Amino acid sequence: MEFAEFCDLCRRLESTPGRLEKVALTANFLSRLAPEEIPWTVAFLTGRPFPASDPRVLELSWAALASVPVVAPNAQSRLALLDVAAGFAEIAAATGKGSRQAKIARLAQLLGRATSDEQPILRRILHGEMRIGVHDGLVEEAIAKASAASPAAVRRAALLLSDLAEVARIALTQGPEGLGQVGVALFVPLLPMLSELTDDFSEILAAHHGRTALEFKYDGARIQIHRRADLVRIWSRRLTEVTASLPDIVQIARALNGETFILDGEVVAVGSTGRPLPFQELMRRFRRVHKIEALVKEVPLALYLFDCLYRDGRSLIDEPYEQRWSALREITRGAYLAKSTMITDESAGREFLQAALAEGHEGVMAKDPASPYLPGNRGKRWFKLKSAVTIDCVIVAADRGSGRRRGWLSNYHLAVIDGHGGFAPVGKTFKGLTDQEFTEITARLRALEVADDGYTVTVRPEIVVEVTYNEIQKSPQYSSGFALRFARITRIRDDKSPDQATTLKELRDLYERQFLSKGRLEL
Ligand code: ATP
Repeated sequence: MEFAEFCDLCRRLESTPGRLEKVALTANFLSRLAPEEIPWTVAFLTGRPFPASDPRVLELSWAALASVPVVAPNAQSRLALLDVAAGFAEIAAATGKGSRQAKIARLAQLLGRATSDEQPILRRILHGEMRIGVHDGLVEEAIAKASAASPAAVRRAALLLSDLAEVARIALTQGPEGLGQVGVALFVPLLPMLSELTDDFSEILAAHHGRTALEFKYDGARIQIHRRADLVRIWSRRLTEVTASLPDIVQIARALNGETFILDGEVVAVGSTGRPLPFQELMRRFRRVHKIEALVKEVPLALYLFDCLYRDGRSLIDEPYEQRWSALREITRGAYLAKSTMITDESAGREFLQAALAEGHEGVMAKDPASPYLPGNRGKRWFKLKSAVTIDCVIVAADRGSGRRRGWLSNYHLAVIDGHGGFAPVGKTFKGLTDQEFTEITARLRALEVADDGYTVTVRPEIVVEVTYNEIQKSPQYSSGFALRFARITRIRDDKSPDQATTLKELRDLYERQFLSKGRLEL
């Protein structure tokens, strides 16, 4: 396949708004490729110079790309699709001293072989931005269409292999049958299962049919450990290989009980006292690839394992949680396990959460004991409950309750001090109060009423409540610019006057602090 044809496809995709047409164009193109061209086409279409599971990287910064001289285009197209792949491989292969110059020279050479139509497409691949409206989901559909496989089968393989290029190669060369045989494989990392945020044990118990497995939620970084005999490799949450940075974890994995396994877990940086170190310290460990030994001593890691996806040559992801845990127990002989318990009532849940928080951890995970391991899935089979900071808000209005809360003013509009003599709204909540407190607050708010539109009663801002939340989000909906997610009243702060409530500036600081620690799993 000529690269010119690929460029032509890109231009047609760019000018075709319809999703179905895009799928058809892509599927048609894929079905005309030679097997070795398939992975590269999928990679290029999704703005990657290499297939996702190919560890090679160009290592060309934006500054380096910008410094590539303008190269006169070739009058005639001579590039094959695989020539471009080979050109990228040469750029990636330049390493060590003087490699920046070598990379730029090789790139200039590649550009010089491309025509004026092809050069812009090459540059788009290098920048990772194709601007043709093709995302992974659309490519999955195209693979399904071109190979006569079901979209669900393609999706499943994509989650297991984490590489659409490889999925496309298998689907198009081996058909639906080959795709069906894709399974969990050693040294092919799969996307980790994720969880939904909640603040409510009753929601969890309802979703998990009355019984749920709680585990401490450790505040570190997710890792996936693969081992066959003495060979151990480790991947991060984003499936970057981190084996070289974690020799201490490699050693632990080698000493575990089992020939072959894939384990899921969290590593936390610990100080000499055993308390968790700031997240930045952990990130230093993950980034370091040279002179690791000193850092291993300086920033020791604690390992907490919580799942087993593969054992003795067999995938366990379709087994229920409890089976996977019993495999994990045998492999670890009880060491390095996340602290866990099984509960059937809310109060036991709250007690376990308190214990996790008291030990300085982030919260707890609640996992459905009957659930399989669903790679890449974020849903109700796994929940997370996190600790929350409290702030003090002023009630500025309240909505009339309905159902069980009829007769009360029960949904409270919360606000913080805006710094200009007023209050800025940040959210609403009807959670956290007892029936008696609802009755009392309703009477007090009635006395403070300044307007009533039949649904919402606006009040003088006098009652201060302590509020917990799971997250502060940016919000165009509120004039404060922020919204509290999962707000819940923890106390009525009659000991505080409204001018002692939290200020908008404090809230902004909390938002930013949260932001700092949030980037933390972006490995
Ligand atoms: P967060 O920012 O809350 O860590 P996330 O998007 O990385 O979220 P979620 O599934 O939403 O992932 O939250 C679970 C995360 O918590 C996991 O990715 C993992 O890194 C971490 N974690 C710590 N302890 C556990 C545990 N026992 N089970 C599962 N995940 C755990």
